[in-house]
Amino acid sequence: MIHYKTSEEVQKIKESADILGRAHGEIAKHIKEGVKTSFLDKIAEEFIRDHGAVPSFKGYNGFPASLCISVNEVVVHGFPSEYELKDGDIISVDCGVFHQGFHSDSAYTYPIGEVSPSVLALLKATKDSLYLGIEQAKSGNRVGDIGHAIQKFVEAKGYTVVRELVGHGLGKNLHEAPEVPNYGKKGSGPLLKQGMVIAIEPMINLGSRNIVQERDGWTIRTADRKPSAHYEHTVAIFEDRTEVLTTHKYIEEIVKF
Ligand code: MG
Ligand code: MG
Repeated sequence: MIHYKTSEEVQKIKESADILGRAHGEIAKHIKEGVKTSFLDKIAEEFIRDHGAVPSFKGYNGFPASLCISVNEVVVHGFPSEYELKDGDIISVDCGVFHQGFHSDSAYTYPIGEVSPSVLALLKATKDSLYLGIEQAKSGNRVGDIGHAIQKFVEAKGYTVVRELVGHGLGKNLHEAPEVPNYGKKGSGPLLKQGMVIAIEPMINLGSRNIVQERDGWTIRTADRKPSAHYEHTVAIFEDRTEVLTTHKYIEEIVKF
């Protein structure tokens, strides 16, 4: 069942998303070679709690941390760890904030130091595909229009779309209906309407689309161990417009990519 939000509820999600955007900015300040990914998690949790909010992911179905940290061939849901970032890595930082009863969710993939041109191109295409998906997320369109736009764009460049993991509605719960796949047919799926709040989050692979789950029960990596990129925004659909509630602006003020 889709929960349609009132304007007041969307406003609360926006306030949650503002804390999230600024948490991402704090994390971005510390993303560099030699940093342990567990340190990034500590920064995020402190920032979120200092702003009177709660990290959405910590304890969610037993997830142990405030961030999902997914390096190189890890697609999503990696654990922060003692691993130190090194030159040439890519790192996806996914974070959620729970504030005034509502969740927000966004992710960003960063290059560390000198990343190969082919991997940088994957990051750029994945980020661009997120915005192409958002363009289709408007009242009167269908969920399949979002996935179609993402899939068409990235597959034309030779990349592949992860199928098993998808975007989602969110609000009082971190994951609500509808599912928002990053692939699909134009004009298919649930109708997008005023009051829907959804997370759009393309997960795009350089090699094959196949994934495997590590034995920790969470970490998802590519089967061929080639890199994967992930960007995410939470958006609200209104009758006459779509608003991107989360922001990457605090990240992009700091990192050149
Ligand atoms: Mg997320
Ligand atoms: Mg999400």
